[in-house]
Amino acid sequence: MHVLLYSKALYSTWLYYSPDRLLFDAGEGASSVLGNKAFAVRRVFLSHGHADHIGGLVGLVNIRNNAMGDKEKELSIYYPKGNYLVTEMMAFLARTNRRLSYPLEWIPLDAGDRVELVGGQTPRYVKAFPTVHVHSEKSLGYNVVETRHRLRQELAGATQAEIVARVRANGKGAVTEHYDQKLFSYGGDSVALRPAYVADTEVLCHDTTFLDEEDRKEYKHATLAEAIQVAREARVKKELICFHISSRYKAKVREIERAGGHYEGLDCRVTLVPPGRIVLVD
Ligand SMILES: [Zn+2]
Repeated sequence: MHVLLYSKALYSTWLYYSPDRLLFDAGEGASSVLGNKAFAVRRVFLSHGHADHIGGLVGLVNIRNNAMGDKEKELSIYYPKGNYLVTEMMAFLARTNRRLSYPLEWIPLDAGDRVELVGGQTPRYVKAFPTVHVHSEKSLGYNVVETRHRLRQELAGATQAEIVARVRANGKGAVTEHYDQKLFSYGGDSVALRPAYVADTEVLCHDTTFLDEEDRKEYKHATLAEAIQVAREARVKKELICFHISSRYKAKVREIERAGGHYEGLDCRVTLVPPGRIVLVD
């Protein structure tokens, strides 16, 4: 996994997921930090339409048209269907970029919708799930999912010879089954995610606007304790990325990191993304 992200609550949030060239949200500064990688982005998935998550689209769409790079590479932007703010941005970009050198496509999504990424033996896709940010606006989270094969469970105790015999008689499909593995889950600015939506994911990127519960004045965004609890219940395998941290916690993030960060009942690593810093997660 290779993730490059910048996140400072209220100011800007974007995350580049390099294995599939996906940009999750596009806050201000995304293209200036990505530089040439702005051309690598194939798909953008927007969690919602607030300025700190879509402000960077203006630069991204423009730079792909003007900077040195493959100016004909297509760009697809997925967003929560009917989202008013995204629709306004779409109209603005259409009016101000009448002659783009590349195909720019806007695709509305509902929770449960799937976007195919790659085919082949182990296909991957993105699946949208519902999140809760503000009531006036629809928001989505996204899972990057890989379809894998494994030996059918009922054959777990079978000998090699039995398996070979079965393949000879009925083909490879008779001994293998498919299962879907979530590789990466992005929750946007949601309150605590429903663990079922991100169950068994390898990497979870969860809102952590508040490190201290008492700083949250209304039921919006999430706290560190909630992000940890979601990761625990969802049995996150490799990494919890706590992002969208409020800039009031700059010093506190360092403190927590120095303390080494072990959390009861959590088997994965925990990375706190310091507000205002560009972070690479391997
Ligand atoms: Zn935000």
